[in-house]
Amino acid sequence: MREERQRLLQKKRVIVKVGSSSLVHKETGFIHFGKLEKLVRVLSDIRNRGIDVVLVSSGAISVGRKALGIQGRPETLAQKQACAAVGQGQLMMIYQKLFAEYGQISAQVLMTKTTILKPLNRTNAQNTFEELLKMGVIPIVNENDTVSTEEIEFGDNDSLSAVVTALVGGDLLILLSDIDGLYTDDPNKNENAKWIPVVNEIDHTILSMAKGVSSSFGTGGMATKISAARIANDSGADMIIANGENFDILNEIMEGREVGTLFLAHKNSEFHMMDYIETKSYLKS
Ligand code: GLU
Repeated sequence: MREERQRLLQKKRVIVKVGSSSLVHKETGFIHFGKLEKLVRVLSDIRNRGIDVVLVSSGAISVGRKALGIQGRPETLAQKQACAAVGQGQLMMIYQKLFAEYGQISAQVLMTKTTILKPLNRTNAQNTFEELLKMGVIPIVNENDTVSTEEIEFGDNDSLSAVVTALVGGDLLILLSDIDGLYTDDPNKNENAKWIPVVNEIDHTILSMAKGVSSSFGTGGMATKISAARIANDSGADMIIANGENFDILNEIMEGREVGTLFLAHKNSEFHMMDYIETKSYLKS
């Protein structure tokens, strides 16, 4: 086992982010129950090994859109927010049912950027997470899309999950998406693109590799994932980008197998989550 991967065996608090593309059937956009069930089973096992688990799940808008029979992406903000209101409820109903089948208690935590920007709200959120994790609960987090507005939204769950990682003092963030990890170029367009197993430092070369690689369902492309890595790494957590096509990959990651791209933590004593949120400086490449 490679040295950098060995540290993954010691993780105690893991945040897993699942994008909409990993939760729905590619052909139709309807919920993929088989995959959801697998995700819940694998996460329950990680929890049963004594590791704290936080799930950041997208899908509110796409599930709501399907339930309401809306074709394509919702057009207006109000339509998007209405879809989220319907979809978030449906998603939680499914998650709670499935987690209960595996003997786990799950909880819904909906956040907006204000939760982080306002010190009192931030402290409350932090305390709530701590209490939930102490009680062995699996928090399921999403942006509160129904009330957040464009000016103050995270906009993508890659950033949100990194902020949550910093907030709860997680030691590993796993971003599951429809890509295997970071490549030297877009693997869909360039067959010579090479997979990168480990990133020690996010420099200009890494930033330039991320340009233009996006996913068809979610909001975040590779650039938002690199921004997430900066936040997570600076807060002291390792981060992995891996393919969520098969959720067994979560076990492989936790066993130190060489899958996905691992971005190594480098605790930055200057790190203040607020600076990043207020200036959005981490989000610029
Ligand atoms: N919060 C959005 C949703 O649940 C998803 C954002 C994202 O995919 O990054 O639909």
